[in-house]
Amino acid sequence: MRHTRAHTKNRRAHHALKNPGMAKCGNCGAPHSPHRVCMSCGFYRGRKVIDMAKRAEKALRKNKGKESKKEQSKKEGKKQEKKEEKK
Ligand SMILES: [Zn+2]
Repeated sequence: MRHTRAHTKNRRAHHALKNPGMAKCGNCGAPHSPHRVCMSCGFYRGRKVIDMAKRAEKALRKNKGKESKKEQSKKEGKKQEKKEEKK
């Protein structure tokens, strides 16, 4: 049902996004979502849950074949373009 502009705006007054409250990691001090594992050190409630070193190794192995020299040169080209725009 169509209603007044004021009615629509009153409804949308509650649509703004709220700031996600971040908790501080007890182990490394990095901000993380509350009730979630800290993704910078892998600790949850003072206990190591994820081995982040192993994860980093795995990610490296996964990305080795993916990033070819062509892609890297493209990325560098984009960066240079951005720098030129700033000047
Ligand atoms: Zn942490």
